[in-house]
Amino acid sequence: MPIRQLSETMINQIAAGEVIERPASVVKELVENALDAGASRVEVVTAGGGLNLIRVTDDGSGIPEQELSLAIARHCTSKLVEDINDIRSLGFRGEALPSIGSVSRLSIRSRTALGDSAAEIGIEGGRVLPVRPAAANRGTTVEVRDLFFATPARLKFMKGERAESSATSDVVKRIAIAFPAVRFTLAGSDRSTLELPATDDSPEGSLRRVAQVMGAEFPDNSIAIDAMREGVHLTGHVSIPSFSRANALQQYAYVNGRPVRDKLIAGAIRGAFADVLPRDRHAVTVLFLSLDPAIVDVNVHPAKADVRFRDPGLVRGLIVGAIRQAMADAGIRSATTGAAGMMAAFRPGAAPYNHGGPANGHRSYEAAFHASGSGFDPSRSPQRPLDMQFEGFERAGARQGGFGEPGQAAFDTGALASADARAGQSEAAETLLGTVLGAARAQVHENYIVAQTRDSLVIVDQHAAHERLVYEALKNALHSRPVPSQMLLLPEIIDLPEEDAERLAMHSETLARFGLGIERFGPGAVAVRETPSMLGETDVQQLVRDLADEIADNDTVETLKERLDKIAATMACHGSVRSGRLLKAEEMNALLRQMEATPGSGTCNHGRPTYIELKLADIERLFGRR
Ligand code: ADP
Ligand code: MG
Repeated sequence: MPIRQLSETMINQIAAGEVIERPASVVKELVENALDAGASRVEVVTAGGGLNLIRVTDDGSGIPEQELSLAIARHCTSKLVEDINDIRSLGFRGEALPSIGSVSRLSIRSRTALGDSAAEIGIEGGRVLPVRPAAANRGTTVEVRDLFFATPARLKFMKGERAESSATSDVVKRIAIAFPAVRFTLAGSDRSTLELPATDDSPEGSLRRVAQVMGAEFPDNSIAIDAMREGVHLTGHVSIPSFSRANALQQYAYVNGRPVRDKLIAGAIRGAFADVLPRDRHAVTVLFLSLDPAIVDVNVHPAKADVRFRDPGLVRGLIVGAIRQAMADAGIRSATTGAAGMMAAFRPGAAPYNHGGPANGHRSYEAAFHASGSGFDPSRSPQRPLDMQFEGFERAGARQGGFGEPGQAAFDTGALASADARAGQSEAAETLLGTVLGAARAQVHENYIVAQTRDSLVIVDQHAAHERLVYEALKNALHSRPVPSQMLLLPEIIDLPEEDAERLAMHSETLARFGLGIERFGPGAVAVRETPSMLGETDVQQLVRDLADEIADNDTVETLKERLDKIAATMACHGSVRSGRLLKAEEMNALLRQMEATPGSGTCNHGRPTYIELKLADIERLFGRR
């Protein structure tokens, strides 16, 4: 066969194979176009999961009549200006509209601010229809009917209306988070309407948009991130560990406002939470990276969801460091959902609390929990003396100090019932009420410490809390000096691709600090002579290969560190106070003080809260006193 040039339609259909995978990809491209056109309102309507109809309407700049035919021509774009290294718009390839038009029936109706009427153009399976006058307001409406009618093979891969509809919702939500000042609606015969009213571009506005998308509980159960390293700025919110999910679908990441699904970012999030979440739990995160467009490549795949950073190690380090620092700064915090769920369970006639579900239906008691909403923030002082019972003690004396010393804390066994006993409280006990976790009052069911602060009741899971404390202590010991290692009787020789061997050798010093003695063993091999003692009998081959992969991906050796931390966690689990052990008052108070002093102690090693707090005001509400 002679060599021939492919027809324009064939070329577009081949491109569509990459860019337009399913209805949601069409929605993504059309919404991105609307945003690039400066829209402040974007409306999406679908029918039949998007296969019958997708219509996106915006109030953006519009397309001049004489440019309509260019908009649907391949490699025609108004966006890319001169430099591929300086991309600031969502689109730049000039291939979405011609690709979509080659596999569906597409029409574009548009009107610019200057134009005195609208015009319309159509393209069906690649066949261009003539431009004709139309009636429309300023902006653009793109309508896509019968998607994939021209490529039936692709149609066979569609997963059914519901799956396609939900993929479309996800796409709209994902983009909407990056554009809080734009109003989005998503409607259609085959779905319930999603409405995201415009907020604004301030950090608060951004968080309000995030709450619209992720549920109203998220802000109260998250920590703000704001960090900068070498010109790369990271902002956003991450959930506190006890507000985790069973999958990573609720992790949203943006690079210069572009939604991305990036392995490096996902890995960094996992690394940041490795300490506080088991492998099968995932944080909820919204992270925005902004950096010079010249040091990130967005032109990796036609769908533009992949990016390559010039310095992946920097980005990973920034994310891991910023999240860990923010968690440490936030001090111990526990999910409000735990307390909210408990209150709901108590509340007469309340619907059972649906943990982790959408915010819908929680609105009734949302307000009630606002006060306790932010969990424990040590920087927040108790707001006001709540009850007459404490009045006499208010400001009774300066802080006593020495709370770490168990002997000093008074324990008042009678406090739960007896007013007399309360009157006998020492100053030390009074000062304890001003601490974050309060004064221990009792232990119930041999595992739960009931404590009292000035304005709340705190219940601590003693086993979970102690396990966490032991773990943190072990980890500190682990990372403050070289990790003890054991010599292998025979060095283990591992054959690897030369690049991997080289990479491992380059990191040999760091690895040695973690107890892994590794060196070059001729071309394409390394020899392992020592392994961390804590690992015991371990699959050295697998460990080294995992490390090589990780260094290739991220330029770090987190894997080893994570494994050692994991072992520390297991050891902590075995070495900690079992539930069922009776604790003396001093022991309980000492545990509470130690928790306050230990970052990350609001969550156990399995991602569950170690304590919950019920605000007195909420308890009073339960009893109808307010
Ligand atoms: P790209 O977005 O990469 O430029 P597209 O094929 O998606 O390529 O769109 C081609 C061109 O059509 C855009 O560059 C833009 O000028 C114009 N266009 C598409 N959609 C809109 C819209 N909603 N509003 C204004 N102009 C649009
Ligand atoms: Mg585009």
